[in-house]
Amino acid sequence: VDSITTATKRPLSASQITVWLSCPRKYAFRYVHRLPSEHRPAALAFGRSVHSAIEALHLARLDGEKPEPTSIVKLFRADWQAEVDEGLSFKHDESANLLRHQGEHLVFEYAKWLGDRKVMAAEQPFDVELIDPETGECSGEWLRGYYDVIFEGDVIGEVKTAARRFDDGTLARKLQFSAYAYAWRELRGRDPSVLVISLLKQRKPEVSASVATRTRTDDAFFVQLALEVADAIDQGCFPANPSFMCDGCEYARACRSFRGERGFVKEPPAPVGDLVPVGALVPRVLAEARAAAAT
Ligand code: SF4
Repeated sequence: VDSITTATKRPLSASQITVWLSCPRKYAFRYVHRLPSEHRPAALAFGRSVHSAIEALHLARLDGEKPEPTSIVKLFRADWQAEVDEGLSFKHDESANLLRHQGEHLVFEYAKWLGDRKVMAAEQPFDVELIDPETGECSGEWLRGYYDVIFEGDVIGEVKTAARRFDDGTLARKLQFSAYAYAWRELRGRDPSVLVISLLKQRKPEVSASVATRTRTDDAFFVQLALEVADAIDQGCFPANPSFMCDGCEYARACRSFRGERGFVKEPPAPVGDLVPVGALVPRVLAEARAAAAT
């Protein structure tokens, strides 16, 4: 990769918008330059394994079957083992066994929670143009996504694995829920209910469901924000945003050695002209200050 200034045109997803907002450089590494991940975070693999077991459950229900929760647990276990075998990076409070135990409980509890709820659709994709709901102006930009599960009565089910419950502020503002509600209203002309089903990875794994309410005003806010992000991407605006999220970032090494249009450096840069390394600058500044004070 020589430069990070070239963006590619795309339909945006809610997660792409969220990644750009959290760290534009990470967005560029992942979606523009498609750098391979430097490690495979266990939490993401865990989410994938839980998700694919639950997807299988939803699809079976659509086929009129009602699989036993234990068979869904077996699916999760097989998927998780395959992820572990490929190699994962665990945080200090995670391990393959602990996550397997939590995942088994969570998919079991989810199957129980699902009970006799009628599943109308699963893994349903959508593409929708970003249109200002207040003015009707078409942007030519598109939003792409998919719904995990649809229940009766325009209920969009979004299944999340999380360490704790979403607080009210997060439920009210999370962009992904806004994106899903916007797409539903735009495509179907009806108000949806976004049901956030959290699978909580805690000592006693638990399923907790909350409704995220979105109005037409929230749609307008979302569309405006999405268009601003799309514009920034088109302009190749990808600054780094160092934060607590750098811990565990799958591009941390690439990020440290990235120098914009110069690409990536292998070694720390040599001093240029009058520039000196910061470590050497500090004693020099102190010596100059002492000399100035003595005269
Ligand atoms: S290490 Fe931090 S600043 Fe760099 S790409 Fe990752 S999140 Fe962004």
